[in-house]
Order: sequence, then structure tokens, then C-alpha cells
Amino acid sequence: MQNLVTSAPITFYPSRSQEMIPANESVSPIVGNRVELQLLTTLKCNLKCTYCSLGVGDMVGSQDKVSYDMEALEAFIEKHLSQHEVYVTFYGGEPTLNLGFIREVMERYPTFRFQLQTNGTLLDGLPDRVLANLSNILLSIDGGETITDGFRGRGVYRQVVKNTQAVRGRMAGTFTARVTWSSEETSFEELDELANTFDYVYFQFVAGEGTYSPAAMEKKKAVITQLVDKFFSGETLYPLIPIMGIVRNKVLPTRATELYHGKTQCRVSTHILNVMPDGKIYPCPDMMYVPEMLQGDVIANWLKPSPLQPHPNMPCGSCEAEPWCRGNCMKNLYLAYVKGDKEYRDKVVEPICDLVRFLGREIDRHDPQAWYAKAPLDVRKTLRDCEVYEYVEIMP
Ligand code: SF4
Ligand code: SF4
Repeated sequence: MQNLVTSAPITFYPSRSQEMIPANESVSPIVGNRVELQLLTTLKCNLKCTYCSLGVGDMVGSQDKVSYDMEALEAFIEKHLSQHEVYVTFYGGEPTLNLGFIREVMERYPTFRFQLQTNGTLLDGLPDRVLANLSNILLSIDGGETITDGFRGRGVYRQVVKNTQAVRGRMAGTFTARVTWSSEETSFEELDELANTFDYVYFQFVAGEGTYSPAAMEKKKAVITQLVDKFFSGETLYPLIPIMGIVRNKVLPTRATELYHGKTQCRVSTHILNVMPDGKIYPCPDMMYVPEMLQGDVIANWLKPSPLQPHPNMPCGSCEAEPWCRGNCMKNLYLAYVKGDKEYRDKVVEPICDLVRFLGREIDRHDPQAWYAKAPLDVRKTLRDCEVYEYVEIMP
């Protein structure tokens, strides 16, 4: 998911792909043996973040509760996912506002893995049984206190940090700060502080027009340089997922492709299903208002392959970053190069690609292969196998 800031809604045109197409019984629409079921428990939220992607298409609050029942979910899983290893991410809105649904799913599927994507403000109210069952909690945050509170509301940053500390003893899994990097004022010190506070930090460049002026690009590049320098400076692993992931992909190139079958590491082209509270399924949580992206329906019990796929118009094939980037954000590439939104391409997609290539070059300056060869065994293992790679997009 890339949090989206747009000056105007993007226009899409319905296509025949929105028709209900039954799954071919013999060939699974899911690529590979794993699937992430991202269940949106509600579209309601207790915060009003200024850049929320659900703001596009008037999604926020439009579906308060899950309107399919457990039997429908069971039948869907039985028909389409019975041969897959399933892991569930509870997502929203703010997913903890529908705790009853979270408990019911956890109780019904004890062999699944579970992750929670949350704004963190209600974390301290979660029961022990739920916390103990979460492999990872993704906490939405925007950088340091001033920037986070500016986007999310006064006091939110401190509340999230306090709540995390309050529940840490009841949580066996990891905490990952999910940073939407939008402000040009976001500093190395702020991201470094997050790396000291949480188990991992995942950052993603915001998909917002007006964010990537030449001066803002220079500031972001300066911070990237500091982050990469710090990553290669110590004996312990600096837990920044995009840097870890890119280093992994450069040192062990097969890891860049095997879980995603050569496609984007955010999984939208292969094995993530975003299930809206009304049971409709889409590959990308930022495009759930786009009719042509409809991929399935829990209630009608059908599923087809993801419609969000690489396209010949996309420039990745001739990009230096392609072997380790693998197409970063398909939504961005789709809007820019398939739908032909030139403004979005110039103001969002190309600047982000420029930052991604810069990040790769900064990593190369440190000879990641030589670093890996000398790294302690535990560092190599985490870099190679970190479970959080399965829960986030890896690329920024
Ligand atoms: S295509 Fe992938 S990276 Fe882009 S917004 Fe969707 S989930 Fe996120
Ligand atoms: S940096 Fe951009 S163009 Fe290059 S591979 Fe990544 S998404 Fe494609």
C-alpha cells in the first residue's frame, strides 16, 4: 500500500474484467503456494490522517462492518485456498474497531499466521489472546513526533510509542513501524529513533503530487545516504526493511524473485487478496474503488487472477534497478504508463523511481557482497529470512 495524496480523483473506465468470472477449478488464480488474506474488518477509523488512501473514491467509513458471514468466508477458503499456506493481515480503516471479527477469525483458523496493520492508538485495549497470536504488528507512523502529529493529530506519536511499550510483554511477535515518508523535513535522526524504538522500520515514499520538488528530492537523498551509511557501519543489523531487502536481493538474487514468482514484491500480481468488508476482493488496497480491479467476491465465492500485472508500457525492463526492485508499486506504474496519467508520472512515479535507483547506488558504494561475507551468522540469517518481508512491500 502506498498512501496516496492526489489533488483530484483519478478517472478509471469500467471494463469487461469486472464481470463475475468463476475460478477455473484446475488452475488456482493464486500464483505459488502461499496467500496473504488481507481482511478489512471495517472502513471506519478513529483518526483522520490527511493523506489516507481510502479518502480517494469516498471509501472512508463507507462500510462499517463485515457484511459476509463466517460460513461464506469458510466456503471461499475451502474452494480457493485449501491448498495454500494462508496468512492473514487485519486491515482497515482501523481494524481493531471490529475486534469481534478478529477474534472469530483467529479462533476458527488456528493454523494461520496473523498480522495486524494498525494506527496503534487502541493497541493497549487488545486482549492477551489476540496479542499473543500476532506474528507482527505494523504500526502506521509518519516519522518523528512533530511530523506524525501533524498528519495524524496531536499526541498520536507519544500514544503509539506508549501503547507499544505497554503491550510488548504480551506480544511474542515483532513490531514494525510503517512509515509513509512524505515530509521533506523527515530527518535521519527521526528514522533512526524509530529503528531504536521498534523491531523493524519499513518506509515507503508517499504517492503524493507536490511532494517531490528538486529541493525535497535532495533532502530525501541526503537522508538515504545517512541511513545506508549507518546500515553498513555496525556489527548488528540495522533493521530498515527496504535497505535489508535490497541488500538481500543484490547479494542473493534468487530471493528477489522466488516468493513473488519474478513479479512485484508487494505481491499484488501474485498472492495477496484484499477483502473489503462487503466481501469484494481487490489486489491493491489503494485501488479498491476501481471497478476494473475487482478480482473476486467472498459472498459469490469466485476468484480470478490479479488484474494488476506488468505491462509492456512499463519502463522496468530497461531500468538498472529491475533485478532487485522488480517493479516496486504496480499501482503507480499502472496509473502512469497504462492509464497514461502524465502528471502523476512526472510528479510522483518518476521521482520515486529516481529515489529507488539512488538507494541502490548508495548500497553498491558499500560493496554489499563483501559486507555479507563478513557479517555474523545471525545477521546473515535475519537479512536472508526475515519474516517481515512477507508482510510488507519491501521496496520503498
Ligand atoms: S501496488 Fe503494491 S506497493 Fe503499490 S499501493 Fe498497491 S500494494 Fe502498495
Ligand atoms: S525503479 Fe521504477 S522503473 Fe526501475 S524497476 Fe523499479 S519501478 Fe521499475
